[in-house]
Amino acid sequence: MAHFTVIGLGRFGIAASLELIYLGHTVTGVDRDPKIVDKYVEELTQAIICDSTDENALRELDLGNSEAVLIAIGEDMQSSLLCTLALKNLGVQEIWVKASSKAHHTIVSKLGVQRIIHPEEEMGVRVAQSLNYPMVNNYLSLGHGLYVVEIHIKASLHDTPIGHILGCAKGRVQTVLIQREQDVLNQIDQDFVLKANDIILLCGTRAELKYLAPRLV
Ligand code: ATP
Repeated sequence: MAHFTVIGLGRFGIAASLELIYLGHTVTGVDRDPKIVDKYVEELTQAIICDSTDENALRELDLGNSEAVLIAIGEDMQSSLLCTLALKNLGVQEIWVKASSKAHHTIVSKLGVQRIIHPEEEMGVRVAQSLNYPMVNNYLSLGHGLYVVEIHIKASLHDTPIGHILGCAKGRVQTVLIQREQDVLNQIDQDFVLKANDIILLCGTRAELKYLAPRLV
């Protein structure tokens, strides 16, 4: 369990905060609008009214115990930038910022934040990927062109040895694990026989996974 601080409790900030709590973490939510803070005071570990452009006010928040601080102020770029600068001055190590434009991105990247998020673009890419490969339930980019994809095995592949499917990718796609009902299986060789409804995690390059995709439906 870790502690996080989320600054800006709009739709994005509150969704991230509630998911972190659901995942077992604790969250301090910060917003300058007292009505918004009041609305979420029961759901968050702690909800604080604070103008995050005020460095002295931020100092009072004891941010040192946060694993990361997420700045979820999108529209008001000036506030987001001043807040980023104040967190930097206060020595916060892990800062994630939601950016609303290219200019916003450029400036926060110069300020040396760890992660810049573009929710609309990132979600748009995810939706397009899902439309393109309906068999891919979820995916994670590992960087350097490598991806982990989550695939639900269809009835048509029931009783198929995994080697028959992965063989066409010439051993370059790795099976990370298979979830079968409640069990997580990680000793997977080429003779492993798939069952309908297995959930399989595969790791490979985009090109290799794309080549494999038609064989998974
Ligand atoms: P959404 O996530 O709903 O799309 P958005 O990108 O439109 O939000 P804003 O509405 O600008 O972003 O800001 C999100 C939240 O951040 C709002 O609740 C707002 O009150 C809060 N906020 C804006 N500026 C500050 C600030 N300086 N200090 C603290 N909170 C702020």
